Amino acid sequence: MRRIWILRLNHRRERDKRLTTHVALTARALGAEGMVYSGDIDTTLEDKIEDVNRRWGGDFKVEYIKDPVKWINLMKMNGFKIIHLTMYGVNINDIISELRKYDKLVLIVGSEKVEKIYFEISDYNVAIGNQPHSEVAAIAVFLDRYFRGRELRKKFVGGEYYIIPSERGKIVKKKVNGL
Ligand code: SAM
Repeated sequence: MRRIWILRLNHRRERDKRLTTHVALTARALGAEGMVYSGDIDTTLEDKIEDVNRRWGGDFKVEYIKDPVKWINLMKMNGFKIIHLTMYGVNINDIISELRKYDKLVLIVGSEKVEKIYFEISDYNVAIGNQPHSEVAAIAVFLDRYFRGRELRKKFVGGEYYIIPSERGKIVKKKVNGL
C-alpha cells in the first residue's frame, strides 16, 4: 500500500488559515494519509478536517509537530523518502518515474520562505514546473502524477454521505452504516 504524508511548514494561523486547510483537503482527496504542520497550533484547522472526515468518510489525519527536522528524521528511519516541493528543484517530468518506485513518501511544502535545511535534508527537491505558484497546486499535481489519476476514484470508508456523479445537479445520498 502506498503511504503519503504531507509536511506543511510554518503555518500562520491567521494568514494561512484557508491555504493550509486547502492543502489538507487536497491531500486528503487525492490519496494522502495525513498532514503534519509546524508553526502556529491551529485547532480550528484540525476540527475542520475532522468534520470533513465525519461527513465524507476516510481517516485523514492532521497533527501539529513542534520540530519538523526531528519528525523528518523519524520518517526517514521508518523508510519514507522525503520530497521537498519547490520551484527551484528538478522538474517533476524528469523524476516522477524514479519516485514511483517508492511507496512511502513525505511531501514537504512551505508557506513563505523555506529554510535551507529542508533543501539539504530532503532526498529530492522537486519542481512542479520552475515557476512560482502555490502549495495546493504543487500537492495536487504531484499526487495526480504519482498515482496516475487513480486516486480520483478512491472510496472513502465511513462518513455520512456520498455523491452519485451526475452530468447536472447535485446527487447526495446518505450512507447506511458507513457504506
Ligand atoms: N518563494 C517561495 C519559496 O521559498 O519557495 C515560494 C513560496 S510558495 C507561496 C509556497 C510553497 O508552494 C513553496 O514552499 C513550495 O512548497 C510550493 N510551490 C510553489 N511553487 C512551486 C513549484 N513551481 N513547484 C513546487 N512547489 C511549489
